[in-house]
Amino acid sequence: MAEYDVIVVGAGNAALAASVSACENGAEKVLVLEKAPKNMRGGNTHWSGGVFRFAFDDARDLEPLLPGIEDQYPNFYDGVTPYPYDDFMGDLMRVTGGQTDPELSDILISNSRDTVMWMHGTGKIPMEPAVGLSGVDKDGVIQWQRGLVVRAEHEGVGLSTAWFATAEAVGVEIRYDSAATELIQDSKGWVSGVKVRGPDGVEEIPAKAVVLGAGGFEANTQMRAQHLGAPLDQAKVRGTPHNQGDGLRMALDIGAMPWGQWSGCHSTPISADWGQFAPRELTDKSNRLSYLYGVMINRLGLRFLDEGFDVQFLTYAKYGRIILNQPGGMAFQFFDQKTVDLLEPRYSTSEPIVADTLEELISKLDIDDKDQALQTFNQYNAA
Ligand SMILES: Cc1cc2nc3c(=O)[nH]c(=O)nc-3n(C[C@H](O)[C@H](O)[C@H](O)COP(=O)(O)OP(=O)(O)OC[C@H]3O[C@@H](n4cnc5c(N)ncnc54)[C@H](O)[C@@H]3O)c2cc1C
Repeated sequence: MAEYDVIVVGAGNAALAASVSACENGAEKVLVLEKAPKNMRGGNTHWSGGVFRFAFDDARDLEPLLPGIEDQYPNFYDGVTPYPYDDFMGDLMRVTGGQTDPELSDILISNSRDTVMWMHGTGKIPMEPAVGLSGVDKDGVIQWQRGLVVRAEHEGVGLSTAWFATAEAVGVEIRYDSAATELIQDSKGWVSGVKVRGPDGVEEIPAKAVVLGAGGFEANTQMRAQHLGAPLDQAKVRGTPHNQGDGLRMALDIGAMPWGQWSGCHSTPISADWGQFAPRELTDKSNRLSYLYGVMINRLGLRFLDEGFDVQFLTYAKYGRIILNQPGGMAFQFFDQKTVDLLEPRYSTSEPIVADTLEELISKLDIDDKDQALQTFNQYNAA
C-alpha cells in the first residue's frame, strides 16, 4: 500500500508547483523531498531574478498580475509592447540559430501565459514589474523589453518563499536534508517509490506517483566536464550547490531515454571577483549584463563577440560560455562615463576600475597585450 499519493523530488519552482498542482488535482498525501537543509532550501529558484518571460497579445493581459499598477506607475501599459506567440518563438529560433526543439518550444510558449496566471492565482505568488532590470524610463513612461515585464515580488527569494508558504498551506509535507537517491520500481517496472537518504539514514518510501523536479547538473563539475566539455567544468556556479544531476541520473538508471541537447547550457557573464559559488544572500547580483552599452575585450586586447547583437536578455545566456573560452576564462567590460547611468544596479556589488583616459585604464588592467587593446579601441572608435 503506497504511503503517499505523490512524492516530489526537489523544492524549487518546478517541484513546489508540481506539489501544489498535485493537491489541486486531488492528491491527499503529497511529500516533497528537499536535499538541502532548510537554510539552503529552494534550489536555483531562490537565487533567480524571478523574471518570467511569457507570451501575451495585449498589454492589458498583465492586469490580473499587477493590480493597481497604474497608481504607482501612471501610463504603465503605454510602455508595454505585446509579446505574442510568434515573437517569442522567433526570439527562441533566432538566438539558438534554429536549434531549439520545436515541440518543447511550442509547449513552453503556448502555456506560458496561463502558467504565470496559475502561479499567481493558485500558487499565490505575488508579482511586480521588473523595475531596475528590463525597464527604461523614456519621457516619464517606462519602456519594457518585450516579454520581460513581470517578475515575482522580491525576485527569486520572494518566489521561493511564497511557494513554500503555499505548499505548506495546502498540506504538502516537506522533508529537508532528504536526498532521493534511487527510483524504486515494482515487478512490472512502474515507479512505486523512492529511496531516500535523510537525517536518520536511508529508507524506501512508497508512492503512487513520483515527480522529479531536482534541477540539472549545473553544480556537478564532473558532469559538466562530461557533457558540456572544458572549460565549462571550470565555470563558477551562481546558484545552488545541491543540483548534482541526481534526478537525471535516477531516471536514466531505470531506462529513461536521454533527450534534448546535452552539450548546451545557460552560461552568463558574471563578475570575476566572485568565488566558485555565489553567496546565497547576494542571489543573482553576480550578473554583469550591461555590456551592450560598452566594449568587451579579452586579455589579448581583442574584441571577441558582438556586444550589441541583440538586447542583453537575448544574448547573455550564450556570452558566458564565450567569455570562459577566452584566455584566462575572463574578459574586461569597458564603459564610457556617459553610459554609467545605464548600468544595471547590480554592478554596484563590485568596485569598478576607473581612469580618465583609455591609456591609463588599460595600464591598470591585467591585459597581456596592452598595445593591442589600445589599437582595438582606436579602431572601434574610428569605425
Ligand atoms: C542567479 C540566477 C538567476 C536566474 N534568474 C532567472 C530569472 O530571472 N528568470 C528565469 O526564468 N530563470 C532564472 N534563472 C533560472 C531559474 O532559476 C531556474 O531555471 C529555475 O529555478 C529552475 O527551477 P527548478 O525547480 O527546475 O530547479 P531548482 O530551483 O534549482 O530546484 C532544484 C531542487 O532540487 C533539489 N534537489 C537536487 N537534487 C535532489 C535530490 N537528489 N533529492 C531531493 N532534492 C534534490 C535542490 O536542492 C532544489 O531544491 C536564474 C538562475 C540563477 C542561478
